[in-house]
Amino acid sequence: MLQQKNSIYEKAAEIIINSGECTVLTGAGISAESGIPTFRSKGGLWKDYDPTVYASLSTFQKDPSKYWSVRGDFIWNYGEYSPNEAHYSLARLEETGVVSSIITQNIDGLHKKAGSKNVFEIHGSLREIFCQDCNREYIAPEVPKNDIPKCSCGGVLKPNTVLFGEPLPERALFNAQKESEQCGSMIVIGTSATVYPAAQLPLIVARNGGKIIEINIERSLASADIFIEEKAGTALPALEKEIGKLLNNNS
Ligand code: NAD
Ligand code: ZN
Repeated sequence: MLQQKNSIYEKAAEIIINSGECTVLTGAGISAESGIPTFRSKGGLWKDYDPTVYASLSTFQKDPSKYWSVRGDFIWNYGEYSPNEAHYSLARLEETGVVSSIITQNIDGLHKKAGSKNVFEIHGSLREIFCQDCNREYIAPEVPKNDIPKCSCGGVLKPNTVLFGEPLPERALFNAQKESEQCGSMIVIGTSATVYPAAQLPLIVARNGGKIIEINIERSLASADIFIEEKAGTALPALEKEIGKLLNNNS
């Protein structure tokens, strides 16, 4: 068993090192071990609250307290959420030049908190909160704790995430597509790959001849060249170790 898993990590490491640029696509699964429920998991927020109502732009415009009643806790307690081994591994792999960018669907801001720099948050981030009137920026958890948190100017505060009915951030999306077109490999971690446009990024990689490595506790990408069936917090450090061995041998 161990033998087989080791060889999967070796193969993945070889692909990553030998295929040119490596980009990463992450979803809610990478933050599960940081105590943030995934979209579908037990304890997930949207089991009890329909996101198309509670997290829609039209609801926010009519009654922002509805949105803050489900999202406020995460933002006010933001300091309690920490990156896990998977986030830190990716940050180190970027620092050593192995990973060129991270495209994430997550809005928890944990990649940046772990030290990753070239991060495209295509659904935005709950860490940054803006006044709707004067555009002043607040950083979670430093936000007034009210039903409708307001800026010192009186304007309503809105986190910088994409609500239902809102367009995706253009620049992040453009960069995500560009990275997918030009990379030689993509590591896809903890996403069910059902939400567009993120779901189409691995298809762009494959169409351009790039290789896909999926890390997930259950397979979601039929087209992955390598599937590592493991928790992200275990798999990433193991992969990082194999990459390290290859780099040492090559130098
Ligand atoms: P998803 O909930 O649809 O899928 C999560 C995936 O992670 C599943 O495939 C699951 O098998 C896998 N997984 C669970 N635990 C794992 C672990 N420890 N290691 C590796 N894989 C694990 O998530 P999604 O594909 O990201 O799509 C959901 C949408 O909800 C996205 O748009 C995202 O913005 C949003 N969301 C974000 C967060 C967050 O920011 N942390 C949390 C929940 C939902
Ligand atoms: Zn203001």
